[in-house]
Amino acid sequence: MIFSNALGSEARFDAVLIGAGIMSTTLAVLLHELEPELRILIVEKLDAPALESSSALNNAGTGHAANCEFNYTPRQADGSLNIKKALLINSFFESSLEFWASMTEMGKLSPENFLHWVPHISFVSNQEDISFLRQRYRELTHHQPFVDMQWSEDSKELEEWIPLVMLNRDVTQKVAATRMHRGTDIDFGALTSSYLDILKKDGAVELLLSTNVIDIHRSGNEPWEISLVNKTGSFSIQTPFVFIGAGGGSLPLLQKSGIAEGKVYGGFPVSGQWLVCNDPDLAERHNAKVYGKSATGAPPMSVPHLDTRWIKGQRSLLFGPFAGFNTRFLKNGSNLDLFRSIQLSNLVPMIQTGFKNYDLIKYLFRQVQLNHIDRVNSLKSFFPEAKPENWTLSVAGQRVQIIKQGSQGGVLKLGTEVVTSADGSLAALLGASPGASTAVSIMLEVLERCWRKKMQTHHWQERMKKLLPSFGKDINADKSLFEKLRNRSDYLLGLK
Ligand SMILES: Cc1cc2nc3c(=O)[nH]c(=O)nc-3n(C[C@H](O)[C@H](O)[C@H](O)COP(=O)(O)OP(=O)(O)OC[C@H]3O[C@@H](n4cnc5c(N)ncnc54)[C@H](O)[C@@H]3O)c2cc1C
Repeated sequence: MIFSNALGSEARFDAVLIGAGIMSTTLAVLLHELEPELRILIVEKLDAPALESSSALNNAGTGHAANCEFNYTPRQADGSLNIKKALLINSFFESSLEFWASMTEMGKLSPENFLHWVPHISFVSNQEDISFLRQRYRELTHHQPFVDMQWSEDSKELEEWIPLVMLNRDVTQKVAATRMHRGTDIDFGALTSSYLDILKKDGAVELLLSTNVIDIHRSGNEPWEISLVNKTGSFSIQTPFVFIGAGGGSLPLLQKSGIAEGKVYGGFPVSGQWLVCNDPDLAERHNAKVYGKSATGAPPMSVPHLDTRWIKGQRSLLFGPFAGFNTRFLKNGSNLDLFRSIQLSNLVPMIQTGFKNYDLIKYLFRQVQLNHIDRVNSLKSFFPEAKPENWTLSVAGQRVQIIKQGSQGGVLKLGTEVVTSADGSLAALLGASPGASTAVSIMLEVLERCWRKKMQTHHWQERMKKLLPSFGKDINADKSLFEKLRNRSDYLLGLK
């Protein structure tokens, strides 16, 4: 791999991946494992990989498995919970674990560099939320992925699970929690670097840093022409396949590609902030990711949580996220990003979405007015003894929420979406949640949609089964397969 700022003038690649975050590097590793001869180029505008959302402090590092996140089990009109999303996200995360386990088995990944075992806890402190949590616990524990979930309303037991949360808490307050021991904290920045190390060792890709992709175009069925700028000047490269994995920068590039499928999208940026504990003794006294329930009108990704984090191997304690608003699509982006993304085709859906999501706008307005004391006060609902001097504010990554034109007008979509051209020569990833935890499943979707013929070959099918033993199977429909694969992942990744 060349960590360079320039390419030869005859540059042609089988695949060009834009952005050196967790998504592009996951795709690069998959493509390389499936066909080592492919010539792959990753282009990154910053001077190092994983400095945007994939950087550990820019995201929450939760291995999203639906263990503790309330928004994956919404209550339905008839009072029951819809747990389909929880099961789906759990199976996506199991795929990530399976893939990392296979790469570890092959001696290519060292899980201790990016993966840590941290129990996942849902915590509530009022009667209405307790009854929701009890119902969630009852419904989820009927299903294999969640049979080990524990329930407690007992203060003494909760003091053992979450001592800081229970310290000097009002004894008259009713509290309850569920716990999944098998939870994870993931340093996605470290994982991105580990993937690049694999590719570097195999001489498998070229990584072009400090290089901005400014245009993507093609005439007819010709290969895509990618226009680039760096300190050596402007140049272009050609490729039959391009993946736009530019995080918040994906929407503008998708729009530049001019594909019809991209015209129905707009984006709305929401930034995040954490309170980071600067007292290492406090960090040592907490060992869990504790998720609460979000405030009315708050977007699901703003669910507050008090987290043990492992960042570059160091244990720390974070609380948040607090939402913020600016008009940039990337942390290192431009204040003009939002305005430049407005086109004739998405203007009306964006305005409609604004009207429909008045609660979200009110919520963001309230959030941007918070000061340090206000933020510490909201932390106190998790950690009553929190003191302002022990916490400092850190700015997290930008999420560009998807606005999509549908039959009912503009809709705000809080998930991720893979957009592909009809001929499968271009794929872009929009949105940010559940995000990095599900990168393997998302990139499988890219392969299925854009590399379909190759994916049907015997060679790729066999390689896929080696990388992902559950490939082509529904693990939630087969209890013994589920247990076998979970045990394999736990063993290889040191989760037990
Ligand atoms: C506050 C917050 C909390 C989150 N918490 C979690 C969590 O707990 N668990 C989880 O799984 N996910 C979480 N996520 C989501 C997760 O961080 C993202 O899904 C993931 O990091 C996206 O990876 P990516 O590679 O698509 O984007 P990024 O990591 O943002 O990488 C995109 C890269 O593209 C580059 N780029 C952009 N434009 C160009 C261009 N024109 N030319 C060249 N390069 C370009 C950028 O510089 C960047 O390096 C969170 C995100 C945020 C913001």
